[in-house]
Formats: sequence, structure tokens, C-alpha cells
Amino acid sequence: MKIPFSPPYINKAVIKEVNDALESGWITTGPKVRKLEELVCKYTYSPNTLCVNSATSGLILALKWYGISKGDEVIIPAYTYAATALAVIHVGATPVMVDIENDFNISVKQIEKAITTKTKAIIPVDIAGWPCNYSDINKIVNSKKKIFQSSNNNQEKLGRILILADSAHSIGAKYKNHFLGTIADITVFSFHAVKNVTTAEGGAVCLNLPKPFNNQEEYDYLRCYSLNGQTKDAFTKSKAGGWKYDIIYPGLKINMPDILAAIGVAQIPEYFEKTLKKRLNIYAYYHNFFSEKPWAILPPCIDDDRVSSCHLYALRIKNISETTRNIIIDKISQQGVATNVHFQPLPLLSLFKEMGYEINSYPNAYNNYKGEISLPIYPQLTKEQLEHIVLTVEKAVETSL
Ligand SMILES: *Cc1c(COP(=O)(O)O)cnc(C)c1O
Repeated sequence: MKIPFSPPYINKAVIKEVNDALESGWITTGPKVRKLEELVCKYTYSPNTLCVNSATSGLILALKWYGISKGDEVIIPAYTYAATALAVIHVGATPVMVDIENDFNISVKQIEKAITTKTKAIIPVDIAGWPCNYSDINKIVNSKKKIFQSSNNNQEKLGRILILADSAHSIGAKYKNHFLGTIADITVFSFHAVKNVTTAEGGAVCLNLPKPFNNQEEYDYLRCYSLNGQTKDAFTKSKAGGWKYDIIYPGLKINMPDILAAIGVAQIPEYFEKTLKKRLNIYAYYHNFFSEKPWAILPPCIDDDRVSSCHLYALRIKNISETTRNIIIDKISQQGVATNVHFQPLPLLSLFKEMGYEINSYPNAYNNYKGEISLPIYPQLTKEQLEHIVLTVEKAVETSL
């Protein structure tokens, strides 16, 4: 039995939407992107959503919007995908990495210690779809208002550190009964091919800025900025008589094309109404099986405040070395089951090592990583496949300990 790790969910509805875009005579940013933005707002209740070509671009755009640049600090977890850090590096600021808690998410205590007068933003990452502790992050940010130094209009207006959620994994997850997209100041979802909702490549920037910000005005600014700072998009210009435009900002070119948005337009309703529940059911299946195993550490999924979007099933094996974990992964793959590791802590990667980050400073990140194996979790998995996965994992672990 061959079981891939995370194949995209492509059905007739997706193919129909993409065909519709192809046959419409318009393939780049236009009506499908607008529709996808509306759907994200409708299902997450986010006030305004801008679609871009990746979550990485969305993070860069948000950091630029807040005027973050050289000399500024942005706090991020050491345990995340590299894009979280790269976005900060791309705007010229310094990523300040902090350790995580046992649930894989950024440690609020470590955030508090890391805040300085140069801190302009925090990027919490909802690892595996499990929401960060946003209430406590908010509290800390408010308690540090006194030392926040604003250096432009938006910073003056907000008057505090920006909370920019890297919610690449967590569309559909809930915090205190609200969908993510309405919790942080700005929330960025990823629609990359392996994510819960995909457009092959893509991302969404959800604006939830407090008063006196007007989210619609900020959306209009960001839309223009994401398309070279041009006053008319190509769709509008293509209309008869619409040729004249202006360039008003030194913008980026990170807009999403309609062909790709079409995939997401078909996926979003089905995800919120059907396939998200399937992910939760698969989580429950794994949970029942592995909770009987003395060697298993189970990932979080539901508590009083949170419901995960079950993007990853991050199983951990107690007290094993990285080497043993890698042997277990090999044994599992010999049985046709693709697994993965999420994530290699950033200080283990060459770029960040060369920049001076050291894994010894992030003991929890390393400990969570060394015993971690991500199992397949997606709606197409059948009962037979799930059974094959758990029995294969059990055997691989129990013959390796
Ligand atoms: C996938 C991912 C990203 C980047 O998403 P793209 O859409 O590929 O840019 C950022 N952060 C995390 C945690 C991710 O897993």
C-alpha cells in the first residue's frame, strides 16, 4: 500500500472552476481572486482579506505595511518553517528567535523576555493548526506599550507591537470560539499545495486591525501595493477606455492569478462544511490508537479555548534520539507510508547557523523535534489506509526502542 504524505484535494468542483477561469478569457488577478477573498471573509468572519501569491509574500507585505526595516526586531519562534524568519530578513529587520512550549507553539514567557524598545512585531505560528495563546500574547503586548517606540504613522496609530499571525497551517482553527483571521491584528494563511486549503501556490492576508484603522482602506492600499503600486489592476485596464493608470507606491508584484484562485474558490466551502471535519475524525482515530501506547506523546487538538485545524498529526516518541527517530521513519517508509518531520528548528539550518543562532539556546525546540514524526492526515485517507499507517508506525517504533 502506497500512502503519500499530503496530496492536494482535487475533485470535479475544482476542475470545473479552473476550466471556468481558463474559458473566461481572463486568467490573472480578476473575478476569481475577488470571489476567493469574499469566501475567506465569509467563512472566517475576517473583516477584509487580500489574496497574494504566497504566505511568505503576505508576511513580507504585512511587515512592510507596518514600516518594519533595518534596526527593528521581530520576535518569532525557533520552531517553524523558514519563511517566518525569511520574511523578517527580507524587510531588513532582525528575527529574534525564542523557544517554544511543549505544544510546539511559541512560548509566551520567552516572548516577554525578548521584547526590547526595538521590537516592532511578534509573529506567532499556529504549528500544526493549533492556535497560539493569543490572549496572553495580547496582554504582554499591552503591558509593553510604554516602551514601544513608533517611527511612522501606522506604528503611531496602533501604539504597540503588531501581532502578525503566521497561520499558514490554521485556516479553520478556532480560538475562543472565533475562527483565526479575527484574532490577531493581521493573519496570514498559506494556500501552498500541501496546506489544508490550496491554490497550488498562494496566501491570504486577513486584516483585523483595531480602531482607528479602517480595514477597508488598508485593504485598498495593500491591494494596490501588491500589484506594483499601480492604481488600476490589469483586469480594470483591459476594459475599453481603461488604459490610463498611475504608479503611486514602490510596490511589490505578488498578486494571485485567477487560474489559481479558482482552485481555492472550489475548495473553501467544501473545506469548512466537510473536509475539515474529516481531518478532525482522522485526528480522533490516531488519538484513540496512540493513547494506548506508553511510548507516544500525542499532539494537542482541542481544549477549552481552542480547536485545531489538524493540518499535521505531529506524533512524538518519548525519550528517543534523533538517530532512532530517523531509523523509525525509514522503517515506516519501507512499508509505503510517507511521513515527515515538522520542523527542523531554524538554528539547525545552515543560513541561521551562519547568522549566529545556536540550537543550544532552544532546548524545547530541539526536544520536540528529535522525537517528532508527522503522519499523513487528509480527507482522502480511507479506513484501510489509516489502519495500515497505525500498525506500520507501531511496528516500526516497537522494533526500534
Ligand atoms: C508553508 C508555510 C509558510 C509559507 O507558506 P507559502 O505559502 O509557501 O509561502 C509559512 N509558514 C509556515 C509555518 C508554513 O508551514
